[in-house]
Amino acid sequence: MNERLTLEDIRRAPKVLLHDHLDGGLRPETIVDLAREGGYDDLPSTDPANLGTWFAEAANSGSLERYLETFSHTVGVMQSAEALTRVAYECAEDLANDGVVYAEVRYAPELHTETGLSLEQVVEAVLEGFERGGREHGIRVGTLVTAMRHQARSMEIAELAVRYRDAGVVGFDIAGAEAGYPPTRHLDAFEYLQRENAHFTIHAGEGFGLPSIWQAIQWCGADRLGHGVRIIDDIEAAADQVPELGRLAAYVRDKRIPLEMCPTSNIQTGAAKSIAEHPIGLLRQLNFRITVNTDNRLMSGTSVSREFAKLVDAFGYGWDDLQWFTVNAMKSAFIPFPERLELINGVIKPGFAQLKWRGPKP
Ligand SMILES: [Zn+2]
Repeated sequence: MNERLTLEDIRRAPKVLLHDHLDGGLRPETIVDLAREGGYDDLPSTDPANLGTWFAEAANSGSLERYLETFSHTVGVMQSAEALTRVAYECAEDLANDGVVYAEVRYAPELHTETGLSLEQVVEAVLEGFERGGREHGIRVGTLVTAMRHQARSMEIAELAVRYRDAGVVGFDIAGAEAGYPPTRHLDAFEYLQRENAHFTIHAGEGFGLPSIWQAIQWCGADRLGHGVRIIDDIEAAADQVPELGRLAAYVRDKRIPLEMCPTSNIQTGAAKSIAEHPIGLLRQLNFRITVNTDNRLMSGTSVSREFAKLVDAFGYGWDDLQWFTVNAMKSAFIPFPERLELINGVIKPGFAQLKWRGPKP
């Protein structure tokens, strides 16, 4: 009954992913190919295995700024329509192979215009890859377009999200170094999206604490929080006592604001000490609307199944917990409600029911 779920068990479960960066999930061999084809010669290694190790090591440095440095190489090779389409196609394939049935993958169009692509060409190339990859591998992928928080193009990117909303772009996000760049810098973009009845999430409460979360929700109107781990700072949890929530934490829980948690990534950037000490354990007990995500599969050497497997090891989670995280994620997706419901009732619940009935493999 209480046999621990293995990675192989978890791979068979239908999963949902809401927080994954397109430029953080390339296959090392694809980076090498694209660098060769595009004349990019700054790679630290042109051997795919060595390159994969280099990425993992660079990402383990413990600082968000250094973690972000690894992206100069992935973004560097994603500067043509063909490269973007290939990366998106392979992303859909890799996620489907991990058992993901619905994903929202994000990227910043403005980072892919170095050799002359327009923002529209970037968006269309990515959509094409996901459309084909989704169709061939049986996964639905929506995209989120991201604006960089230290730049001043958020309005333009928000307009792009609205223009392509019926073509596969399901929402908007802001990302990049959090300290010094509060989300309120981009208030006009968020107000525009709200007037357009569009959805958005904000990276907040990862490198920076409660003020960032508070601004994202109460000033900017974010539908979801990217990470949001620092909400733990507003919870008093002394041993043997009922945890006490401050007003912001209570608001986040009461309003069922989804938290896009990325445990491995948080450890790499120093937002959490270890999986066992990750706030996700307490937040799950307190029934926050937690979702489990990968952030950057290449840099963190991870997948949704791997993130779940680590949580299973640390917290003893079983199928019911995994299903709860998955339904949370599907409820929080940016696609229309009937489509979310169809995936929950037609794919996720039956999928888990079958796994629970069979139990883990001996
Ligand atoms: Zn992220």
